[in-house]
Amino acid sequence: MPRNDALMNPSELIRKKRDGAALSRDELHSFIAAYVDGRIPDYQMSAMLMAVFFRGMETDETAAFTDVMLHSGRVVDLSMIVGAKVDKHSTGGVGDKVSLVLAPMVAACGVCVPMISGRGLGHTGGTLDKLESIPGFRTELDVEEYRRVIGKTGLVMIGQTAEIAPADKRMYALRDVTATVESIPLIAGSIMSKKLAEGIDALVLDVKTGSGAFMPRYDDSLALAQALVAIGSKFGKKTIGLITEMDQPLGFAVGNWCEVVESVDCLRGGKVADLMEVAYALGALMLVAGGKALTVREGLRLCEEAVWSGRAYEKFLELVRAQGGDASFLEHPSRYPRPACTAEVKASCSGYLGAFLTRDIGVLAAEMGAGRMHVDDVIDRKAGITLRKKLGDAVEEGETVALLYADDRGKLERAARAFPSLVMIAPEPVNVGPRCRTVVRTGGEEPWASFSESAV
Ligand code: URA
Repeated sequence: MPRNDALMNPSELIRKKRDGAALSRDELHSFIAAYVDGRIPDYQMSAMLMAVFFRGMETDETAAFTDVMLHSGRVVDLSMIVGAKVDKHSTGGVGDKVSLVLAPMVAACGVCVPMISGRGLGHTGGTLDKLESIPGFRTELDVEEYRRVIGKTGLVMIGQTAEIAPADKRMYALRDVTATVESIPLIAGSIMSKKLAEGIDALVLDVKTGSGAFMPRYDDSLALAQALVAIGSKFGKKTIGLITEMDQPLGFAVGNWCEVVESVDCLRGGKVADLMEVAYALGALMLVAGGKALTVREGLRLCEEAVWSGRAYEKFLELVRAQGGDASFLEHPSRYPRPACTAEVKASCSGYLGAFLTRDIGVLAAEMGAGRMHVDDVIDRKAGITLRKKLGDAVEEGETVALLYADDRGKLERAARAFPSLVMIAPEPVNVGPRCRTVVRTGGEEPWASFSESAV
């Protein structure tokens, strides 16, 4: 980021935001550039973040904030790669392994997918941690290697490098410890600065809602989707949001290696209904955005063909090999080391699975070793949960509801004691709605059910 010697008075800028005024692009640049090069300390940035948290940002201000963060690092040029480059971003959830299925599926249909993902933190899992559970898989590629892999395979999946939006990297870590994460303009700027730096032409956003989502209330999820779409459009990128349910873990597996196994199973035609409903919907939107399908219906058909023909699975193997992974573990998952301990959780009464405390299930999995409670925690890649029942399923007393596994016996036993309180068994059957709820575009929003049937 260019050093800006004419640093405006930081406490005046904080005061201005604290009192509810919008900051200009120059003011935001002055403040953030000085933070990145060490002239503004953490305590002043923390105060600014808290002021934004309470006062919000106007639409143009959020776009200027995104632009400053984006240009704090390198903006990758992928123009030498022929064809549309389209990525997907998820706001995160529990058992959310969609990227592992979606990215190779879309790439197998001929749309390039340059994907920069995050690690799990708190209750949400991270694509990078899942990928790194494949022996040898490298997610820390520099920009040159990133371009080489995408050029060769049409697909690349890496972590945020030091060159991509470094201002966001520092500010996100500070937000995490100053209770300033849940702010729509801060989230929108953080996500979009990284995505816009990837060299994409279009972006599809999976905005989660429900008990395992980062923003559990539907209205907040909608407002976040609208903010993200507005920024993407301001930067001239086709951007579309899909609000999807996170009121139960997606699929059956929650953990790193077990989620890779479930994803591979789906890429080989396995039928995990909720996971594939979301993956196909997002895939269809990506194919439309990338010009490979004229309608969502055609996009859905192309995605399904990529899976049943085996091309999506082959593309995933190609990616794994290109990034140093040992693909033989995907072809023969039984070769993978087994977790030292397992426990079964049984239903205490008969009925119907009525609700999951999804966020708490994510926290529980992290506490078993599948995630981090602190950024530098080491992950147990084999730790995880396999659900045997999903929302709405009939349950008999004594039947297994979930299987837990980890290397650490103490952690496993604590989790097995806690798990029953995270699952509610109802006396009557419950209705489970579709996973895909609402499409959000610049012009407004529309239920997925009608949108996917229309000619778009
Ligand atoms: N993910 C991000 O990348 N940034 C946020 O602020 C929240 C989620």
